[in-house]
Amino acid sequence: MHQPDQLMRKDSSNDPGLTSSIRQSAQILAATADFVPTGFDTALPAIADWQIAMKRSVRSSADLRRILQLPPEDELGAINFPTFVPWEYIARIQKGDPNDPLLLQVLPTGEELVDVAGFTTDPVGDLDSLAAGGLLHKYEGRALVIATGACGVHCRYCFRREFPYSDAGSRNESWKPAIEYVRRDANIDEVILSGGDPLTLVDSKLDELISSVEEIPHVRRLRIHSRMPVVIPQRVTADLVGRLAKSRLATWVVVHANHPNELDQSVLGRFALLIDSGIPVLNQAVLLRGINDDAETLIDLCRTLVNHRVQPYYLHQLDRVSGAAHFEVSVEQGNRIMKQLREALPGYAVPTYVTEQSGELNKTPIA
Ligand SMILES: *Cc1c(COP(=O)(O)O)cnc(C)c1O
Ligand code: SF4
Repeated sequence: MHQPDQLMRKDSSNDPGLTSSIRQSAQILAATADFVPTGFDTALPAIADWQIAMKRSVRSSADLRRILQLPPEDELGAINFPTFVPWEYIARIQKGDPNDPLLLQVLPTGEELVDVAGFTTDPVGDLDSLAAGGLLHKYEGRALVIATGACGVHCRYCFRREFPYSDAGSRNESWKPAIEYVRRDANIDEVILSGGDPLTLVDSKLDELISSVEEIPHVRRLRIHSRMPVVIPQRVTADLVGRLAKSRLATWVVVHANHPNELDQSVLGRFALLIDSGIPVLNQAVLLRGINDDAETLIDLCRTLVNHRVQPYYLHQLDRVSGAAHFEVSVEQGNRIMKQLREALPGYAVPTYVTEQSGELNKTPIA
């Protein structure tokens, strides 16, 4: 096993390409070993390199229940979206609380097996928008590359839980057709790296992909959609930040946090590393029953974000994917919550409440 502080130090690379403020922030993070939460008395593994964190993630609901001191559940039927939860995320879950808002996002339950009318395997029409292997082109000017099928956590409500990543050409991470598509369409000035989670790619692969986008003259912006800074925050290394900061493309990072408990110091420190190097960070959340479907929670989330210079971007109405019906919040309830958000927060701290409908030219704002 590696010594945590060795890995952390490696993390704060002495790359001369980094500005001194980034290097300094990285060193501060390295010195505080900020991933070992206090008061967690289970055998929490020491903080390690993000790839090790991926490898040692908990992959069974029985283990997750045991670690969090929850009663075992009867054998679940055939749930086709496996459990996958890194320790860094488990550390933020309250032991013994079956209703913990982070636990509910990651623990499979029998409710996923209930068939509900209107909930389907491709709720947002992604398969119709697959323009080239691993590329979705739904909206004017921006193309979304499914950089990989892998994620740093498996969110039970995920709209891509049923997505056939291998058929979409992303399993082998061959982006050639996607890059070719973007090269041929001069209207595309923004490339979005999504997935799955693009920050599960190792730096060399990610660099290859970003470099191939940078070579297309009409592309001006790169957007990275990732939940990694929230679930395995040490993925945001000084090397990664340095690579993004030196890009010719205006680079935006969209993270994904649904609940204020997800935002501990380890996560906020990594957001700061990105922002201090000039990379704007936005957040998108999904409105989820029993998790963040009350104004108080979402106000707390948005306030924490803007206090740390992250702008709330979208609040998504749940996509109606099979197995996620129990997470749905009605639009009426969503609107009531949004009214309270607008009353409590500065305008820039209020996300846009949107739904995604197949065939629409943009994500549709809900009044
Ligand atoms: C959500 C999404 C985008 C980005 O939409 P914005 O409103 O610009 O955030 C682009 N392409 C696809 C396929 C999407 O699903
Ligand atoms: S990280 Fe994103 S793509 Fe991956 S399972 Fe969670 S919501 Fe889905």
